[in-house]
Amino acid sequence: MGLPSQKRTKSSKRRRASHFALKKTSLGKCPQCGKPQKPHHACAFCGSYKGKTILTIKTKKKTLKQKEQERKSQKQNKKSKKTDA
Ligand SMILES: [Zn+2]
Repeated sequence: MGLPSQKRTKSSKRRRASHFALKKTSLGKCPQCGKPQKPHHACAFCGSYKGKTILTIKTKKKTLKQKEQERKSQKQNKKSKKTDA
């Protein structure tokens, strides 16, 4: 087995590791929705690229609780409308 011939000093290790940090990604603004967008990529929020919609974005499915709440709020709105008229 190959063994390192000399000990790697702290400083030599650290000097090497000084280049390991990740760079920040530069984000532009989507011309359609204005949200941050990777350059040369379709927008992740509206799916547009160069002014055309290319991707169909899947939205999160609503949970049963959210659906029930929506129904309740709709029912309440209907009742309030009836009482107003
Ligand atoms: Zn967009």
